[in-house]
Amino acid sequence: MKYDYDLIVIGAGSGGVRAARMSAGHGARVAVIEGDRPGGTCVIRGCVPKKLLMYGSAFSADAADAAGYGWQVSIDGHDWPQLIAAKNAELDRLESIYRWLLENAGAELIAGWAQLAGPNAVSVGDRVLTAERILIAAGGAPHIPEILGLAERAITSNEALDLDERPASIVIYGGGYIALEFASIFNGFGVDTHLVYRGDLPLRGFDEDVRSEIATALEGRGITLHPGTVIEKVADAGTGHAISLSNGSVIEAEQIMVATGRAPNTGGLQLDAAGIAVGKRGEIPVNADSATSVPSIFAVGDVTDRINLTPVAIAEGHAFADSIFGGRPRTVSHSNVPSAVFTQPPIGSVGPGEEEARAIHGDVTVYTSKFNAMKNNLSGRSEKTFMKLIVDTASDKVVAAHMVGPDAGEIIQGIGVAVIAGATKADFDATIGIHPTAAEEFVTMRTPRD
Ligand code: NDP
Repeated sequence: MKYDYDLIVIGAGSGGVRAARMSAGHGARVAVIEGDRPGGTCVIRGCVPKKLLMYGSAFSADAADAAGYGWQVSIDGHDWPQLIAAKNAELDRLESIYRWLLENAGAELIAGWAQLAGPNAVSVGDRVLTAERILIAAGGAPHIPEILGLAERAITSNEALDLDERPASIVIYGGGYIALEFASIFNGFGVDTHLVYRGDLPLRGFDEDVRSEIATALEGRGITLHPGTVIEKVADAGTGHAISLSNGSVIEAEQIMVATGRAPNTGGLQLDAAGIAVGKRGEIPVNADSATSVPSIFAVGDVTDRINLTPVAIAEGHAFADSIFGGRPRTVSHSNVPSAVFTQPPIGSVGPGEEEARAIHGDVTVYTSKFNAMKNNLSGRSEKTFMKLIVDTASDKVVAAHMVGPDAGEIIQGIGVAVIAGATKADFDATIGIHPTAAEEFVTMRTPRD
């Protein structure tokens, strides 16, 4: 009983809560320190509210599609404040579940912002708490680039989830996950939506075909794309903003949202008090065991800037608890992590893009399929579904699967199991399709692309 606790966790987000619960379950005396609401980015200002707004915004496309099936649907008169209130009530419910999960596991939740006070000490306000081990799971926050007039006027995804009113128009800056998802959300709600990004295509790092297919689909849904463009300055214009672009044009919009990446929340942690030096993106460097350079201190999730996805943080937190307090040392594999981008239509992806797959495996065989989903035949929607399988030619193993189209995230989750299990193309071919679905296309692609 040399220390107040066996474990102090900094941050009650997805990774921290999982680590705290599992460690307490293994018998550790655990405190969790959180300055904001338990639940963290995913539950309070990320995945969950984002997906609720995404569900809400998708009804406009559903209503448009319904006409082809004989429905006479009007989608006028959306009540934005009602949606935000309903979303907030759901977040309150989830927050209380997170509090209960910690309490039920026997972990103590302490409100306040934590700072390191040494390798085994953390300060919260004027208290200093000690622990044999400290786990930092402080997450990340939006990063706003230095552009004249931008920081004073721009909202980030935090505020975009909580606007009092639906804007008439919005410019979204960035071409990553968050920019594309929010562009789809606002566009679905009838907001005049502009997406400004510096690359030729959005979603750098994704398969090139996926990048061009999603650009085509987003444009087809009514989003105005400004590829190869940066914002040079932002100024006032009436009740909104005048956004000057590098191509010489100026867009006037009611809102401007920045989604140019997130930075690890390490600034306020006083890491140097424990002798931890951050990496060049502000991240806490860790090894495969999530251990920092200080033997008593570990870190998981976005604060380590490995793969910034909720299920990865949860897996890292769980592995930490099992390894340190459960007597079952294990690490988390960061390869072949499936992910989805909840655009409309969505993207699902597991494994590397084609270019990266060639660099890793050498000779790969590529199968693609692009088709009109059956539902579109009556709805009249002109939007292609795209699928791609990448096969290591020598072993016949499927090393990647990518999809742009309805339910892509749901479909790729299952394909991800097959890829992790090392399924071969012959295994895919031997699987009978479920008809009529889009997913069956993944087991009926027979002819390699030239
Ligand atoms: P991303 O890293 O995905 O995208 C950042 C975007 O901003 C890129 O298009 C990048 O361009 C651009 N950018 C960066 N710096 C600048 C700059 N100075 N000027 C102009 N453009 C710039 O970050 P997000 O904020 O979208 O998301 C953060 C992370 O959160 C994601 O990577 C993902 O891990 C996670 N996330 C996951 C979701 C999901 O699973 N569905 C949903 C939301 C977030 P370039 O490519 O040219 O560098």
